[in-house]
Amino acid sequence: MGRSKLVLSVCCVCWKAWNGDPTLAPETDPWEALDTLVERQHLAPQDYELSHGYCPRCTLTLLQAFRAQSAERTAPFAQTDVSLPQPPAAGAGGGKAPPSMH
Ligand SMILES: [Zn+2]
Repeated sequence: MGRSKLVLSVCCVCWKAWNGDPTLAPETDPWEALDTLVERQHLAPQDYELSHGYCPRCTLTLLQAFRAQSAERTAPFAQTDVSLPQPPAAGAGGGKAPPSMH
């Protein structure tokens, strides 16, 4: 019976690993360079396996890039604001011109 492997979540964009350390101060970034993490926790290669994902920072970056891209792509179909009810025109019955001072 070997001890179970530690699964490290590694961001596949910036290669930072989530150290999953609950004792860290909240202001500490729980994502650190994989090398640093492995070294600090004295992990041997057989002690852990990698699970690829995205760190929050890269998720945000990718999400923004994706939104910008999809906004461009779906522009003809994304005009949802067109169907919004229009507010009633002010001064119903009158002309479009604002009252002029004489
Ligand atoms: Zn990342």
